[in-house]
Amino acid sequence: MRKKYILRIFIFGLIIIAMACKPSKLLLEKVGEPRDGMPINNRLALVYSSRYQISLYKLEKLHPFDINKYARIYIQLIEDGLISPEDIYVPEPLSDEQVLSVHTGSFLESLKSSRNIAEYLELPQAKVFPSKTLSRGVLRPFLCSSGGTLEAARQALKYGVGINIGGGYHHAKPHKGEGFCIYADVPIAIRVLQQEGIISKALIIDLDVHQGNGTALIFENDETVFTFSMHQGDIYPIPKENSDLDIELRAGTGDYEYLEILTNHLPRLFELSKPDIVIIIGGCDILHDDPLASLNMTEDGIVKRDWLAIEACLERKIPVVMTLAGGYSEHAWHAQYSSIKNIIDNINNM
Ligand SMILES: [Zn+2]
Repeated sequence: MRKKYILRIFIFGLIIIAMACKPSKLLLEKVGEPRDGMPINNRLALVYSSRYQISLYKLEKLHPFDINKYARIYIQLIEDGLISPEDIYVPEPLSDEQVLSVHTGSFLESLKSSRNIAEYLELPQAKVFPSKTLSRGVLRPFLCSSGGTLEAARQALKYGVGINIGGGYHHAKPHKGEGFCIYADVPIAIRVLQQEGIISKALIIDLDVHQGNGTALIFENDETVFTFSMHQGDIYPIPKENSDLDIELRAGTGDYEYLEILTNHLPRLFELSKPDIVIIIGGCDILHDDPLASLNMTEDGIVKRDWLAIEACLERKIPVVMTLAGGYSEHAWHAQYSSIKNIIDNINNM
């Protein structure tokens, strides 16, 4: 009798779990295949794919990065009725040719070794997997989310604003990946659009708490791309590369000081770079409880930061792309969700 009772509770529990999981699964299935979406208020294109999801038999959970961050943001935007799955632009993965516009041939070769991939991910346990497994579970998702930055840039040039719910891998260098970054998505998007003759000059506004060392290195001697990085000075990467303009923040910097520094620098960035497109690397590891950094920003501060940068571009009629980059606290996804919600609300009210 008691066994029967326990079995009934168990089956009931399974049904509840299945019901709770089903809507999210359906929502994710709708953004699997590459396709066009619909710009919000004819001004904002959101780019995402369920194929961004990294999957390594749960080993991926050992990394401080919240592997579900992108999916959580997408699902919450839908569940709150801010967008529908049909609005989302679902990108193609980057091709080898596009990757080679920034990376070296030897870097592509290096991705055939599990040891190298594990090193780039800073996830040593990953080296035990065959390279084919890593290619499917890690490299392919990175190619998709990096393709999302190029797609967001193409749509920003049409409609004004593009947000990739992913991307921002600013530690990747031409010859190697680093700091959980494999492909240099932002430089690749810029190079591809330059080669197609669609843009000539670009400005990168890197607001992740870590310096954009990969991006700085790639564009070190390139007059066509201006790199600005505002980051905590005393943490990784050490030593740093030279951006065109670096602002080092002290540990403990809070909303007021941060937003004042950004407000004061933005006009100068546009004057110095005269860009055809701006790409924001909007990491939210500036949040006060981030385990990898020690700034003291609130969620509201992040919402204000992102809109400050986007509004500056809209006022000047310069297409702008936002990528999500880092953010390792349990609240990181929510801060970026709130920021995207705020951008959608502001765009709808224009
Ligand atoms: Zn970071």
